[in-house]
Amino acid sequence: MSTACAIDVIVVGGGHAGAEAAAAAARLGRSTALVTLDPSAIARMSCNPAIGGIGKGQIVREIDALDGLMARAADATAVQFRMLNKSKGRAVWGPRCQSDRHAYERCVQAMLGSTCGLRIIAGEATDVLVDGGRVRGVRLADGGELAGRTVIITAGTFMGGVLHRGQEIWPGGRIDEPASNRLSESLRAVGIELERLKTGTPARIAAESIDTNRCRRQDGDDAPTPFSLMTDRIDIEQLPCWITQTNPAVHDLIRANFDNAPMYTGQITATGPRYCPSIETKIERFADKDSHQLFLEPEGRHTNHVYINGLSTSLPADVQEAMIHGIDGLDGADILRYGYAIEYDYAPPTQLTAALETKAVAGLYLAGQVNGTTGYEEAAALGLMAGLNAAMALAGEEPVVFGRDQAYIGVMIDDLVTKGVIEPYRMFTSRAEYRLQLRADNADMRLTPLAESVHLVGAARRRRFGRLAEAAEATAAALKALRIDGKSAERLLANPNTSLDDILDKAGDGLEATALRDLIAAAPHAAAIVATDCLYAGYVERQRLQAEQMGRLDTQRIPDDLDYERVSHLRQEARQRLAAIAPRTLGQALRISGVTPADITVLSIHLRTGS
Ligand code: FAD
Repeated sequence: MSTACAIDVIVVGGGHAGAEAAAAAARLGRSTALVTLDPSAIARMSCNPAIGGIGKGQIVREIDALDGLMARAADATAVQFRMLNKSKGRAVWGPRCQSDRHAYERCVQAMLGSTCGLRIIAGEATDVLVDGGRVRGVRLADGGELAGRTVIITAGTFMGGVLHRGQEIWPGGRIDEPASNRLSESLRAVGIELERLKTGTPARIAAESIDTNRCRRQDGDDAPTPFSLMTDRIDIEQLPCWITQTNPAVHDLIRANFDNAPMYTGQITATGPRYCPSIETKIERFADKDSHQLFLEPEGRHTNHVYINGLSTSLPADVQEAMIHGIDGLDGADILRYGYAIEYDYAPPTQLTAALETKAVAGLYLAGQVNGTTGYEEAAALGLMAGLNAAMALAGEEPVVFGRDQAYIGVMIDDLVTKGVIEPYRMFTSRAEYRLQLRADNADMRLTPLAESVHLVGAARRRRFGRLAEAAEATAAALKALRIDGKSAERLLANPNTSLDDILDKAGDGLEATALRDLIAAAPHAAAIVATDCLYAGYVERQRLQAEQMGRLDTQRIPDDLDYERVSHLRQEARQRLAAIAPRTLGQALRISGVTPADITVLSIHLRTGS
């Protein structure tokens, strides 16, 4: 295949990153092609059938606020919803759903299929074509070339993918799908450095073979909260999950097979996610624990596949079988698919600008697992930002870069491009220093106005968000106006023991109280956001001042072409680190490890005086 007229944005890879990247670029009116190995596998969940969770749920809400796909697809295809972390403050609640994996794929595929200006091409991209330091397209495995003005690589775990189970080793991008090796070679050839990471997945078992009488049932929330502003309500029959646990005999069996475990025989050398360890690692690392909890999660409504969350492993198949059959409730389990580990190439993300463009090749962007992250949500968010910024660059506009006080997405990208990764990066609420203001519930308020200003948001969402913002503004004014015992309702809500219902109970029947009641009845979602704003107002104000101080540094731009060798009095280590990362702002420069506040003072004097 060859195209004479260059496509604006070529996205390589149809995973979670690729789907959002392609949709975002097309939403901005760019001609877009999504090249992927197998279009029927677009948006496939390589591992657990779930979206969201602590830290990740906030990202899904942010993707939605930017009019991305993930939240709407999750709402449309979930089988169970739970708000995690509910025992903690609202700021760190994490919406999560169990998904029907096939329905999710079909839903995202349908959304892409109906996206104007987006073409889906089945094929393998083998080479990134570069001319004079600028990308000009990709070559496909059939020898054809696609001319493109920008290219976004979102190849997930497929580049140099090698699967492990016991002593078995075979190439692949994930189970039953081929690896993509030539793309790795091509990226290296154009100056992108690649390293290795590892991840793994547990076995799947047949639902009817689980003895649920010996497991604990876990139901979804009674009144599920949708991910998307565009979803009116969740009206589905929710499926239960089941909880069981490992035991000392199973731990002994695993220990006895460490010499069959690729993790311990030296067969796997790459680093995996520390917070999502394999069962082998858990047994070794937490040797004093004699039990680990396991969640049995259905993979959908029309399949008997059940995912054993907590039992990721690359032990040999016969050991996996013995291990599973030794677990309470699973002694008769039919194993439908064995667990495995995968090692793959990723590009250390310090090679990227905050727009996710490579520093080595203009117009070439990387997004998703290839940036050293793990998780569908992280990948989707990175894809969306890469698609958006490729389109912004083509329009000659400045990239959209969120601050750490604006979005979890901003935190993630700043962490990645400033500090790099030493293991697969996943989001936690603890990574966000301004987490009290980066809540899941206020994501639309934080991000949709900005997304609207760059034309990323469709008409339907614009209308709906407009109504939400209006209702929130009116509710905030009504809370300010209503006085109870000499204090405004707004101030009373700063007390964590006072709820909106308490306010209404004490409000009486005056005009202000009636107005507030009407507003809450008409727009309960907006009212809940405003009430939570009131609760955190004091803390957020303090954080705002802090952010403002940092913001001063974060708004002081460093020229892209600054020659650090010419900055006098800068320490040699700082010079090297700064030159390698090329930070956009003094704030980002300060977050680079090895760069001190004194270095920033020197740099700031240089920027002001040129000395
Ligand atoms: P992927 O979802 O991997 O999609 C990549 C896409 O690119 C695929 O569609 C592929 O066909 C396509 N592609 C690749 N190369 C080419 C090419 N050359 N040309 C055209 N198309 C190409 N995440 C967690 O959060 N927790 C876990 O426990 C976890 N466990 C995992 C276990 C395994 C075995 C695997 C494989 C992944 C696991 N993940 C886990 C990671 C999660 O699946 C990824 O983070 C997420 O899918 C990344 O999305 P992505 O879009 O970057 O890439």
